Amino acid sequence: MEYDHVGETDPEVANMLSREVDRQRETLAMIASENHASPAVLEAQGSALTNKYAEGYPGERYYGGCEVVDEVEQLAIDRAKELWGAEYVNVQPHSGSQANMGVYLAVLDPGDTILSLDLTHGGHLSHGHPKNFAGQMYDVARYEVDPETGYVDYDALADQARDVEPDIIVSGYSAYPRQVDWTRIQELADEVGAYHMADIAHITGLVAAGEHPSPVGIADFVTGSTHKTIRAGRGGIIMSDAEYADAIDSAIIPGMQGGPLMHNIAGKAVGFGEALQPEFEEYATQTVRNASVLGERLSEHGLSLVSGGTDTHLVLVDLRKSHPDTTGKDVERALEDVGIVLNANTVPGETRSPFVASGIRAGTPALTTRGFDEAAMKEVADCIARIVEHTDDPDVKGEVAEDVQALCADYPLYE
Ligand SMILES: *Cc1c(COP(=O)(O)O)cnc(C)c1O
Repeated sequence: MEYDHVGETDPEVANMLSREVDRQRETLAMIASENHASPAVLEAQGSALTNKYAEGYPGERYYGGCEVVDEVEQLAIDRAKELWGAEYVNVQPHSGSQANMGVYLAVLDPGDTILSLDLTHGGHLSHGHPKNFAGQMYDVARYEVDPETGYVDYDALADQARDVEPDIIVSGYSAYPRQVDWTRIQELADEVGAYHMADIAHITGLVAAGEHPSPVGIADFVTGSTHKTIRAGRGGIIMSDAEYADAIDSAIIPGMQGGPLMHNIAGKAVGFGEALQPEFEEYATQTVRNASVLGERLSEHGLSLVSGGTDTHLVLVDLRKSHPDTTGKDVERALEDVGIVLNANTVPGETRSPFVASGIRAGTPALTTRGFDEAAMKEVADCIARIVEHTDDPDVKGEVAEDVQALCADYPLYE
């Protein structure tokens, strides 16, 4: 990556940009929501389209000079429709949280009730955390996963929905390793007279590639981010049947945003174009396979996985059974010392604070982008298991750090 222009005018920032690329090259990114966008996506996102104001939608803008950005946005929409098979797509949400806000604004009134998964069980801030806009504007009831199995407890959810009578049920999660039964939740929503929003932020890429069942055409609304498994750069997306098009369009603008980020929408168009290539299916398949190998190997090392394994791109390790005195934060810090970057995560039935947490979440999207296969994932799992066992042992940490550097060299990034 060259930063010639910034380098000339602002060496201070140029230095930071280069150091961040080096950091990504020299560490293993295992935060499950992260990925490495292609140089083509990065270029589109860094383009002069950032200069353009384009409030409105293609063909109906409040500003002149939109003929080129109209084409860009329409292309992003058309490619998204092809990828996910939705009747209606809005590519303007600045991020996944804004996509969710757009749906809430389109169909809820302040004070209405959201029924969503508890945050410590794998939900997301924008599903109704008390300090998030969703928690402040709406009443929020939380459902949970079954503490024994780690799977969404659909029967308990049904009882709760009949009792609470929510206005919207939110499915789709941030730290849930299993497939979601969209149909079951939609049928429940229909029964209790609620909308159903499936938030596929984490699994947009897996759904596009057919590696996870799709909620499109089943759930009333499907929201997502565009920078996670789909690898199309920062942003959000909303999909639904055509009947909700006007409500969503006006919830986004004038409802909650001004001008769309046209440079990001160009990044989405490029990333979606990449995802339409046959290689992307291989990527998504390998991402899931890698997570499965990672989970199996960590289990062989005696670590306990929430739900016992994974169907997706991530595993959630519950440290309480194998290492009751080690926190998620301890492991996160020790792994960061050796060049493996992931996050401490709450686990179902969490007893520690979310900042400390009793679990770690590890995802394979970014490593799979670098070309990691099953054999390499096993090595990564071995590194993680050694650190969990020896969070404070400088000798072990030194050895693991060398292994990590060897893996980084074998699977180069942004050459
Ligand atoms: C990541 C995520 C989002 C989007 O978050 P942003 O950071 O706003 O893009 C939304 N919902 C879920 C379930 C997520 O995991």
